[in-house]
Amino acid sequence: MTNRIFNFSAGPCTLPLPALEKAQNEFLDYQCSGMSIIEQSHRGKFYDEVHNTAIQNLKFLLQVPDDFSILMLHGGATQNFVMIPMNFASEGKALDYVMTGSWSKKAAAEGKSYAGYKEIWTSADKNFTCMPTAAQITPSENSAYVHFCTNETIGGIELQEYPDCGDVPVIMDMSSHIMSREIPFDRVDMVYAGAQKNLGPAGLGVVIIRNSLLEKCNANIPNFMSYKVQADNNSLYNTPPVFAIYMMNNVLEWVKANGGVVGMEKLAKQRSSFIYDAVDASGGWYSCPVEKTCRSRMNVVWRLPSEELEKKFIGEAAAAGFSGLKGHRSVGGCRASMYNAMPVAGAEQLAQFMVDFKKNNS
Ligand SMILES: *Cc1c(COP(=O)(O)O)cnc(C)c1O
Repeated sequence: MTNRIFNFSAGPCTLPLPALEKAQNEFLDYQCSGMSIIEQSHRGKFYDEVHNTAIQNLKFLLQVPDDFSILMLHGGATQNFVMIPMNFASEGKALDYVMTGSWSKKAAAEGKSYAGYKEIWTSADKNFTCMPTAAQITPSENSAYVHFCTNETIGGIELQEYPDCGDVPVIMDMSSHIMSREIPFDRVDMVYAGAQKNLGPAGLGVVIIRNSLLEKCNANIPNFMSYKVQADNNSLYNTPPVFAIYMMNNVLEWVKANGGVVGMEKLAKQRSSFIYDAVDASGGWYSCPVEKTCRSRMNVVWRLPSEELEKKFIGEAAAAGFSGLKGHRSVGGCRASMYNAMPVAGAEQLAQFMVDFKKNNS
């Protein structure tokens, strides 16, 4: 028997045990082919089925409309930071970025080398503790796109209202909460996510893009970096990250068997409520720096009265089987990342641990 602990790491993160076991069971001899899935040709029938089933499962689970294409690319979410301005920048057009924290900053850093770069909203003055409301977002005149990060993994904030930007394409980095809520495809033109949070292993990036936006991709860029070329080749322009896609498909099968996105959303609410309730019931001993209306259901951040206590808390929690609770090095504090595969019991037991720790240390 394996000794699995509660892994609250922000990413790469815990994956569903059945998805891991499936890989283990069929690893050496995939479907009686006499080899593993990572030894097959990426154009052979075994991998071909994995590839297309993964796309179909994404389409089914996220209810992706027919006028969108689904891509599975190398390079995680980060490669898309680079590809977005590369594909869509054009003379005289603004590249609009919404600044909500670490990940939106990193995405924006890649847009900055283009002339049209523009920051249209920021919560820097509030230390990135809130998300904009829909009404606060107005694209520039002649905007090529508006870019958002809808769940800031480090700051622990989650977008609640999707803005309506009219004809301006809206592009969203949903890396750390994709597959935990419905996506309003009537308001969104491109969604992307690194797989390593809610979908599978690191290295893979999923892109869901409106076909009319594909037509706007610049032609004078490297083929490999073109969404259009990748779409025209069904993400098989070169050898795709086959093992990551295979693992993601195992995860998607598990999501399907566990209530789909609606089921995942329910679990996310349950898990995060346990921790936020423990914080709120502590009389300020634990404090959450984030505006209440913007609290993330996936990444819950909180502080203790001192950094010494935080260190002690993280150490004792690890010894008790709760791993990965240290906040990001840039912000400190504590953070519980509770992606789809985190059992509700993990959150419930962590909340109890918080109550007990406070009792013993205050
Ligand atoms: C983790 C993360 C990324 C980066 O993902 P990579 O797979 O490392 O490229 C980007 N955006 C958000 C919101 C993330 O949480």
